[in-house]
Amino acid sequence: MRLTLLGSGDARQVPVYNCSCPACDAARVYPARRRGPCCALIECGAQRWLIDSGLTDLTERFAPHSLSGILQTHYHADHAQGLLHLRWGQGLVIPVHGPDDPEGLADLYKHPGILDFSQPFAAFERRQLGELQVAALPLTHSKPTFGYLFEGQGRRIAYLTDTVGVPEASCAELQRAPLDLLVLDCSTAPQPVAPRNHNDLTRALEVIERLQPTHAVLTHIGHAFDTWLLEHPEALPSGVSLASDGLVL
Ligand SMILES: [Zn+2]
Ligand SMILES: [Zn+2]
Ligand SMILES: [Zn+2]
Repeated sequence: MRLTLLGSGDARQVPVYNCSCPACDAARVYPARRRGPCCALIECGAQRWLIDSGLTDLTERFAPHSLSGILQTHYHADHAQGLLHLRWGQGLVIPVHGPDDPEGLADLYKHPGILDFSQPFAAFERRQLGELQVAALPLTHSKPTFGYLFEGQGRRIAYLTDTVGVPEASCAELQRAPLDLLVLDCSTAPQPVAPRNHNDLTRALEVIERLQPTHAVLTHIGHAFDTWLLEHPEALPSGVSLASDGLVL
């Protein structure tokens, strides 16, 4: 099983338009420091699923028939805006499985084009996709949102974004067996008060402490957190690292 982090930024991405903080300036000079919309690709056997679709060049990146389908965590623009163009393809159908969100994004449901939204996940539903088993776990966010637990080829990988903390029942599912890898929302540096929709570093480390994955990777990173990390290079404990665009796990 292979997970590739295609994008590791928050909704604003890095660099932020017209921002000259140290992280944004560095990202303009060093392409490796840029952060695109948060999304990933999970591959297991013949299965190849895109997790979220915020990238706006999906039709350039993925040749026709190269994806098994798309798993949406939720329908905020930074996670779904790439669908607005992808849908106008022709001659194939791409399944898009995500939460049953009556709003979706813009007019996607009204004009789905080649996208098939007809099989949303129920909370805690498990699906067998070839060699890959996927479970949809409710998260805490401002829109209906699922994290995904992937099991296949003897590995367990959890991908949890966007969220603040992790709900009790979802934690229980994750704790049934050891996690090899946890990819977790951590959008900001430690905050005095818990943010409403995303983990700060304090809450992210609490989740990691609880779930005890072999390795944890923080994603959905905002520019101010990147700048804070430049000033606090020792902030991440061992076993916890930072996502970057293109990172293969
Ligand atoms: Zn987001
Ligand atoms: Zn900035
Ligand atoms: Zn979101």
